[in-house]
Amino acid sequence: MRLVINDISFNYKSIAALKNVCFELEKGEILSLVGPNGSGKSTLLKCIDGILKPYVGAVFVDGKKTFSMDSKELAKIMGYVPQNVSGATKVFPFTVFDVVLAGRKPYIGWSITEKDIDTVVSILKFMGIEDLATRYFNELSGGEQQKVIIARALAQLPKILLMDEPTSNLDIKHQLEILYLIHYLCKRMGLSVIMAMHDLNLASRFSDKIIMLKNGGIFAAGPPEEVISMENIMDVYGVKAYVSKASFGKPQITPIEPLNSWEVQRIWIYEKV
Ligand code: ADP
Ligand code: MG
Repeated sequence: MRLVINDISFNYKSIAALKNVCFELEKGEILSLVGPNGSGKSTLLKCIDGILKPYVGAVFVDGKKTFSMDSKELAKIMGYVPQNVSGATKVFPFTVFDVVLAGRKPYIGWSITEKDIDTVVSILKFMGIEDLATRYFNELSGGEQQKVIIARALAQLPKILLMDEPTSNLDIKHQLEILYLIHYLCKRMGLSVIMAMHDLNLASRFSDKIIMLKNGGIFAAGPPEEVISMENIMDVYGVKAYVSKASFGKPQITPIEPLNSWEVQRIWIYEKV
């Protein structure tokens, strides 16, 4: 399964959120989208999944334009994990089992089959959340909800998984656990992943490629060794950071100074209040 993003541009009314974004993703690869708040990561994921329609550009899966596929066909290829859950799932008392079963929608014809039930049970176990199966989704913690939503996307058995900050609500153990599981699915099962990540160290550790966005355009793209550099972090985030190579061979950063000398003057404003 090969994904081609061809020259995507997207505007929210007068705001140009994405500008001429192009890249490709091969089977089994993990790509992280990084960049400051508002740089276009979520918008790009939504354009790839077809939730938003770019005014220019197209997405191709194995040469076929996704915009011409129906929603069922697309849902068997792509799963999307939003940053926060909204709508009915958040409001109504659905059980965790029901929420994950909703991921089977593209496969369910007239009725739910044993295969659908078996798939949901297996994925709950894979994610380590089978104990939550009968709990109400809207009563779970943010981290528990995040795992359930990932499970719902996996229940679609997608070839490509899009995740918007999948580890943002998780503690350190669960961050690593989820990224290991995702890494395993990519390397052993050939899943391809695009994930928006704030944590540059986790992105560097688990990704084959990183795309660094700035103001809706690609500022840098390539393997972590090329993208995670002191210069890029200064140019894109305005943060001074040391970059070193960790024992597992990937660059890791230590941020040093978040404010330049002019910005430090803002602290004095509070002192005078
Ligand atoms: P990121 O996920 O990298 O933080 P987003 O893709 O959410 O960035 O946002 C990119 C830009 O688009 C920002 O300038 C943001 O303010 C703007 N934006 C996002 N969603 C909307 C919206 N629904 N309406 C108007 N502007 C939006
Ligand atoms: Mg976002």
